[in-house]
Amino acid sequence: MRDDISLIDVHMNCSKCRREAVIYQRYSGMHLCAEHFTESVESRVKREIRRHRWIEHGDTIGVALSGGKDSTSLLHFLIKTFGHRPDIEIHAITIDEGIAGYRDLTETEEIIRRYDVPWHTASFAEEYGITLDGIVAGQGDDRRSCSFCGVLRRRVVNRIAREAGCTKLAFGFNLDDEAQSVMMNVLRGDAERLTMPQRENPGMIPRIRPFAVIPEREVALYAHLHVGPLADHGCPYAHNALRGDVRRLLNEYTWLHPSTKFAVRTLGEELQGLGAGPAVTPEMCPRCGEPAFGTCRTCAVLDEVAGGKSR
Ligand SMILES: [Zn+2]
Ligand SMILES: [Zn+2]
Repeated sequence: MRDDISLIDVHMNCSKCRREAVIYQRYSGMHLCAEHFTESVESRVKREIRRHRWIEHGDTIGVALSGGKDSTSLLHFLIKTFGHRPDIEIHAITIDEGIAGYRDLTETEEIIRRYDVPWHTASFAEEYGITLDGIVAGQGDDRRSCSFCGVLRRRVVNRIAREAGCTKLAFGFNLDDEAQSVMMNVLRGDAERLTMPQRENPGMIPRIRPFAVIPEREVALYAHLHVGPLADHGCPYAHNALRGDVRRLLNEYTWLHPSTKFAVRTLGEELQGLGAGPAVTPEMCPRCGEPAFGTCRTCAVLDEVAGGKSR
């Protein structure tokens, strides 16, 4: 694919220092060496963090660490940038969804050993008494596994972060992920989701996405330069047809107009909060005691999955 990570094959010099370039940023028109590329990534992420006031004095940041390139690069960046600050703590949180041959905590353990941060883990099996493999087997297919998984992961990662005293939850989503999500809502005609204000609930740890301004291929190169090789096998259930189509569409269009993904992400940000959103008040689910808005989605998914299991 055109937008995949490609170290440039023709020898070029860095536009800033004349050393050998490792990447051509089409949207900036610059060739960059490893050092200037790193500086370019890190300065944009820092600017984004400042702009949103995402990290403040006294924060304990829980990094949702899957062990893939995005979350591991984010952990690396946060430790490099904030690790020396006595007023900021960094923890890692890993969730084992129970997907055979995909989620392997021993790989993540190596990363933790290297970065030496407090590590909190949880599993669907312990938390909910069922694995994602079990859910797919009970349903008879994996059509809805990503949405089940997302809902179940959301609650457990939030609970772990809250109990660990985290004040922020950091996710490794990159620019491509963000632009795809906006575009998917556009193509579904989902105005409500595009304009929904960010809802706050006292039991929900605020979520931050520092890499949302960095294209996927640049995060991959950043990981390649600073984190080293990672076992990045894809989830066997991840074949969301719409996301795949939107990914292709955005990559093709970005080839013609290099700033497209930035524009789409900015559009999403500008639209967010303009709508009223559903009129529900934040509350605690009477069944599971976790924060919810109206009907608890986690409990609804668990009921549905239990129904599938006994069918
Ligand atoms: Zn340079
Ligand atoms: Zn509940």
